[in-house]
Amino acid sequence: MNQMSPAGALAVTRNLIDLERGSDELLLVNSFYMRPLYVARGKERVRRVLSAAAPGLSLEGLTSACPQDVDLIHMLRDHRILIDTAADKERFDQSEIEAAAAPRRLDRMTAYLLLTESCNLGCIYCLNGAASYRKHGLSKMSLGVALRSITTCLEQLSPGGALEVAFFGGEPLLNWPLLKEVMRRCETELQPRYSDKKITYHLTSNLTVGPKDLVEQIKGRDFTVMSDIDGPADIHDRCRPYRHGGPSHARIVKTMRRLVDAGIPVALRATITSVNQDRLLDIAAHHKELGASNSAFVPVCPVDSDPAFLPDDLLPDPDRLIAGLSEVYRSGLWDKEHLFPFNQYRLKLRPGARQITACAAPSGTTPVVRVNGDVYLCIYLVGQEKYRFGTLGSPWDRRPLTETMLALHVDNLEECRACPWRYACGGGCPVMKLAPLAGVAKSPRAMDYGRRINCDLTRAVLEELLWEKADEVKISLAQEPQPDAAALTERARFC
Ligand code: SF4
Ligand code: SF4
Repeated sequence: MNQMSPAGALAVTRNLIDLERGSDELLLVNSFYMRPLYVARGKERVRRVLSAAAPGLSLEGLTSACPQDVDLIHMLRDHRILIDTAADKERFDQSEIEAAAAPRRLDRMTAYLLLTESCNLGCIYCLNGAASYRKHGLSKMSLGVALRSITTCLEQLSPGGALEVAFFGGEPLLNWPLLKEVMRRCETELQPRYSDKKITYHLTSNLTVGPKDLVEQIKGRDFTVMSDIDGPADIHDRCRPYRHGGPSHARIVKTMRRLVDAGIPVALRATITSVNQDRLLDIAAHHKELGASNSAFVPVCPVDSDPAFLPDDLLPDPDRLIAGLSEVYRSGLWDKEHLFPFNQYRLKLRPGARQITACAAPSGTTPVVRVNGDVYLCIYLVGQEKYRFGTLGSPWDRRPLTETMLALHVDNLEECRACPWRYACGGGCPVMKLAPLAGVAKSPRAMDYGRRINCDLTRAVLEELLWEKADEVKISLAQEPQPDAAALTERARFC
């Protein structure tokens, strides 16, 4: 709100996402309010009205200046494309930013338990840095660490809240006995003690380990599974070989078949690097053939937890990646609810949705507990003292969370605070922004890649989804009687 503006003074929003397509289509969105306005025809007329809305002009002044466009002006107002500078907000106030960073009871949490920090694979892009993770030797979390960590999370949930216990690593199935015992103790001790809160389970595994009782333990429980297949065997085995060499694809597929045949949904993810960037459609089809419940495409993170940069030649080309993702989406191989990132980004476009950060990490709802009980903000920040906010046995120190939330709030990020996309985007993955990157100057390509993945890829996905919404409107318009040619604004509708 601008306290200096006279009541009723109009302006074009500073948060305007402004898209054009073809010769006459226009799609306008104020990202703070997220009420897209689709103009199927009459782009120039809309632009004329927006240009006439000189700063300080009132609604009455604008309607007198454009008497034929009164309906259109009201529509632009309804969608907050034209804002009342004295009444409509354009950004969060400082008090709201601080409130977002303040501790509070949580409705949902996902606790990532690193059951072991060791892994039997040697993926070419592994995020677990050799210095920050205890990768070698079989590091194992103890039952005591797991249960005390889960209890700490349950204590922070609001009544009626839900805790997802996510078994993570390293490769968590290397500590299968602990995983089973954690579930047993959750059900016999913790769930009865916290009967007003719900406990569910998740496993992120490379599925190269297939315990005999895997299906029996998962089936019937509220349990989700995610694994990573980077493509058909010829590609996957180049990206995710065993640590001591040798292909892993066939072994993973065997475990996956057991789960799928038992009716257990398994979501698959592909990490996109230069190795598989031109095969995205094949990968989507392969995930489908394997019976996956979901297919996810995740651009490789250019920095690991140490933090050290990946070799430049492993980074995919953002333009090819964007084109490939769009091709997968348009192919219809996967419906939009089951294809990441499109399914998640759709949620960002709900009316009134505002992303203040790109992920949940700074809110403390996704703590990562390593083998020794230390708690970190994100798997990529494990081992970095600045982002450790808990240690087993002591209450969490929320200061790192508060500081990180304030630093990452999209209205505080220098590079984002004037970007019109920011309340749809949330500012991109924080890892590149947070990790105290040594040797940044040595990897300008990685920095540029990170920026393009955060900005260009996000905008491309959101743009695809916005135009899809517009197309739905277009179809409904085509089915309606044609309006009088003089009443051109009749052709403008909102999604
Ligand atoms: S499976 Fe995960 S933890 Fe293991 S090497 Fe691959 S990326 Fe790293
Ligand atoms: S990451 Fe890029 S697209 Fe997202 S808000 Fe920041 S500048 Fe805008």
